[in-house]
Amino acid sequence: MRPWNFSAGPSALPLPVLEQAAQEMTDWHGSGLSVMEMSHRGKHFLQIINEAHDDLRELLSVPDDFEILFMQGGATAENAIIPLNLIGRQGLGKADYVLSGIWSEKSCKEARRYGDVAVAGSSGCASVINGLSQAAFTWFPEPAQWQLRDDAAYVHLCSNETIGGVEFVNWPDLNALGAKGVPLVVDASSHILSRPIDFSNVGLVYAGAQKNAGPAGVTLVMIRKDLIGHALPHCPSAFDYANVAASGSMFNTPPTYAIYVMGLVFKWLKQHGGVAAIEQVNIQKANALYNYIDASGFYENRVHPSVRSRMNVPFFLANEALNTTFLAESEQAGLFQLKGHKSVGGMRASIYNAMPLEGVQALVSFMQEFERRHG
Ligand code: PMP
Repeated sequence: MRPWNFSAGPSALPLPVLEQAAQEMTDWHGSGLSVMEMSHRGKHFLQIINEAHDDLRELLSVPDDFEILFMQGGATAENAIIPLNLIGRQGLGKADYVLSGIWSEKSCKEARRYGDVAVAGSSGCASVINGLSQAAFTWFPEPAQWQLRDDAAYVHLCSNETIGGVEFVNWPDLNALGAKGVPLVVDASSHILSRPIDFSNVGLVYAGAQKNAGPAGVTLVMIRKDLIGHALPHCPSAFDYANVAASGSMFNTPPTYAIYVMGLVFKWLKQHGGVAAIEQVNIQKANALYNYIDASGFYENRVHPSVRSRMNVPFFLANEALNTTFLAESEQAGLFQLKGHKSVGGMRASIYNAMPLEGVQALVSFMQEFERRHG
């Protein structure tokens, strides 16, 4: 049996996807070619990329007035590509950022290179939320308290902080918060396709593929069409959304193999009932892990219960001196990559779509057994 892989990303892919890719490695559908060897303009690859676009639209019910783009450079490049494309929209060069952890901080820092960037709200300090004392970046700033500028080109947030384990899904209507017509831009890298997306309140959603959607190398961008075509003059041509959209994500040679494997993940997800069905499994998985952690006293998750991520579960051992032993023994038990991010410490279990309930149950059993021996 393969180990259970709790990596935050690149992360576990569904086994049937890996097996199909292996089977098709040297001869895709009788073409005589590996997908890696095909022209991106040939009929075979066109079929692959078109199906991937269509399947993603179907899986997330992406509205018709949104363009789906497959880009390169990861979410990190999008942190620059977004202001390069959007910040000059009304000629004012302003954007507002909500800070909820390391990834949104990075986005904000990068955007400052391109314009007048303000912090709309931040959880970067300790606070008391519903009677619970929360450390920095273990809660989410309340939208009603965001300081929004009605002449900003967009408001940016990260809806799942992969490192902090904070997930925020009630994306507000910015019109109701006084920022009329200002689009919301969301970094959904680490929970894309784990639950449905309500597109009514957003202008752009982006995500690196290497957690829930496929291998590293391709970035998903879903953008409302009216937001395309406003790039700054110095925006690189390959990163101008207008060029990428007009060329069907083929302004330059796309990451063909990554798109192919991502397309297999989309088909796997469709076979398993789509996003609504996987969401139910994700709820079960997250409940199994959080319920055990909360009840144990030996382990602890410090994120406010209202914004705990279903995908990334950071946890601490009450006795941190046992960390090394925990990691060594968990690996021996076939539970891989549980070490927490260095900025947070402790452990982190990333339980994306490809992790079945069985894998989470194996983790909980190991944690119980470890607690019994060391508690
Ligand atoms: N945003 C989030 C939420 C992430 O988790 C990551 C990667 N872990 C990034 C951005 C950066 O993505 P990439 O490394 O693909 O540029």
